[in-house]
Amino acid sequence: MDLSTPVTYVKGVGPARAAMLEQKGILTVEDLLYYAPFRYEDRRNVKLIAELAPGEMATVMAEVRSTHLTETRRRSLGLFEAVFGDASGRTLLGKWFHSPYLKDVLARGLRVALYGKVEYDTFNGALSMMHPEFEILAEEADDSEAGLHTGRIVPIYEAAGKVTTRVFRAVIHRLLDTLPAPPDPLPASVSGPLRLMGNWTAIRGVHFPPEGEDLRALNAFRSPAHFRMIFEEFFWLECGLALKRAKARLQTGIAFELNDRVREKILAMLPFKPTGAQKRALKEIAGDMASPRPMNRLLQGDVGSGKTLVAAEAAIIAIENGCQTAVLAPTEILAAQHYVYFKNLFSKLGYVPVLLTGSAPAGEKTQIKKLIAAGLAHIVLGTHALLEADVEFHRLGLAIIDEQHRFGVVQRLKLMQKGVHPDVLVMTATPIPRTLALTIYGDLDVSIIDEMPPGRKPVVTRHVTEDRLEQVYTFLKKQLDAGRQAYIVYPLIEESETKAMKAAEKAYQHLSRAVFPGYRVGLLHGRLTPGEKEGVMRRLQSGEIQILVSTTVIEVGVDVSNATVMVVEHAETFGLAQLHQLRGRVGRGAEQSYCLLVTAGLTDAGRERIRTMVESNDGFYIAEVDLKLRGPGEFFGTRQSGIPALRMASILRDQEILELARREAVRFVDQPPSEDELRRALAFIRQHWQRRYGLAQVG
Ligand code: ADP
Ligand code: MG
Repeated sequence: MDLSTPVTYVKGVGPARAAMLEQKGILTVEDLLYYAPFRYEDRRNVKLIAELAPGEMATVMAEVRSTHLTETRRRSLGLFEAVFGDASGRTLLGKWFHSPYLKDVLARGLRVALYGKVEYDTFNGALSMMHPEFEILAEEADDSEAGLHTGRIVPIYEAAGKVTTRVFRAVIHRLLDTLPAPPDPLPASVSGPLRLMGNWTAIRGVHFPPEGEDLRALNAFRSPAHFRMIFEEFFWLECGLALKRAKARLQTGIAFELNDRVREKILAMLPFKPTGAQKRALKEIAGDMASPRPMNRLLQGDVGSGKTLVAAEAAIIAIENGCQTAVLAPTEILAAQHYVYFKNLFSKLGYVPVLLTGSAPAGEKTQIKKLIAAGLAHIVLGTHALLEADVEFHRLGLAIIDEQHRFGVVQRLKLMQKGVHPDVLVMTATPIPRTLALTIYGDLDVSIIDEMPPGRKPVVTRHVTEDRLEQVYTFLKKQLDAGRQAYIVYPLIEESETKAMKAAEKAYQHLSRAVFPGYRVGLLHGRLTPGEKEGVMRRLQSGEIQILVSTTVIEVGVDVSNATVMVVEHAETFGLAQLHQLRGRVGRGAEQSYCLLVTAGLTDAGRERIRTMVESNDGFYIAEVDLKLRGPGEFFGTRQSGIPALRMASILRDQEILELARREAVRFVDQPPSEDELRRALAFIRQHWQRRYGLAQVG
């Protein structure tokens, strides 16, 4: 038996349990060993009930003597109480609110370990524990395993189906006793100076902490054993990324020339003075473009920070060097808007922009594709339709992906393959800490726009309950009368654009006839043809439409600086990132803007999201809350988007270890201590990379 042995062959597992473990991604002995406890409990202080003192945290081993469930009208609110007794002859009362199901779990006669804070219940005149942690012990006292589950710091595992924490504890304990110590993969030149413990000692220490280990350190995942395991996981991930980057650097791309003519063209195009942050970003991008290695850069900047302008400057560099630029956007509306935006900016320069989207008439698409293939189109704006096989470029030099969080790694590669090592610029408004960005976007360099264009006033955000909708409308009218424009957004219902469209359509009828009869109301949703969408956007830009009723299709990118009110209906159904994006549609000019979040009923999480929005305009802060509320997996999207599936490490909790591991990995790859160590590391990464991080092969 070794690390790669399937779990079915582990003593105490068998096919049924193996199937349940598989649900948790535990397939091999190695997976099992890396399945870390999520918590530790100090059961060294096991006491008899008679020895308990109010105020202390303690563990008792006792038997359920009687139980009682106080039913309330709402069943979930029931109070469950159980009386426990032990050999000392005294009793302890356990109390759980909202847990009626415990009636079926804690049956009379069962032996359990209880852990919690001892309190003196004046009402009953008895000792009690409120919501104690508990673990059901074997029916009868089993001496052989007693030392495993009590009398020590005990690991608590998240159950996998019927594989309880107790089963995990027993199985892993036996495994650690019988398995020969595997070789330590971490290079000595790395682990030595950092004084990291060996991997086998660390694995054992994570599951069964040595005597005297600090409980708080364990529960914070910062015991020396945890540190070592988390470091190692990040180290290999970062090594893989560093190798990928090193490989990319060896490729030859286009070295764009940056001469005075290019600079003049950029100056001629600029509609206003770029911010300092925009200048810095462009300088980094221009540096990449001038170098012969292909650019792979992420441009990150909050909603409204002016990323498009930087993209336009980069496009000029490419076009002036005789190359084409492609801009990929996630929605037809954004693609159409980009088309208008770039057309305006580039009209003075004589460039030809074209728009390519999926729902354009076939004949028109064929025409546009011909222009692209012939090199007559200088800049191509479009949606996924750009990625289709029959879209051929004459000479693609720069590929820009806007709102990259809506795309995956695959789309980036597809777009890149339309040229010969073109430079790639991806843009996103999702603000995440730099080290995280460097890891999640792996092989990308990162530029950050951390400054808003001048004269922007923070958007005032208010929470409004549905019964006060009249006041919202009155406020809207005042803004419209002052010459401003507004959006009213309806959510996707049951993930169906058709239903959302109907809801928006109905609202549109009602609003335009009954509520705003004297105003010009427009309607936008995903089912309009590209021509219709473009028409709506144009009438919105020109001010002809005063209120735009829309589905979430306007969520990203839409840019109308005279719009000052964003009303979001059923705001409770939106995620934080979405709300922040929607709010980013206003506050784009000098006038004070407003975001009104209308809700009809709120869950706790919904309330938290609305509160965060009202409280803050800071995309960075909002992303942090979002990341915490949703967890990294959901936050960054699927695996395809590049987030590695980590086992013990957490990209959120362990940022400082991630930074250390990154530094060490970069140094190790750039200056390997010996050929031999590098070769061994490479072999290890090749073997583990795909399976553990789900990322493409490296090196
Ligand atoms: P995002 O980063 O969200 O994509 P945009 O590129 O859409 O932001 O820019 C938001 C608005 O700010 C646009 O109307 C754009 O023309 C304007 N803008 C961009 N840069 C500047 C600047 N330096 N000064 C003034 N306005 C700017
Ligand atoms: Mg944008």
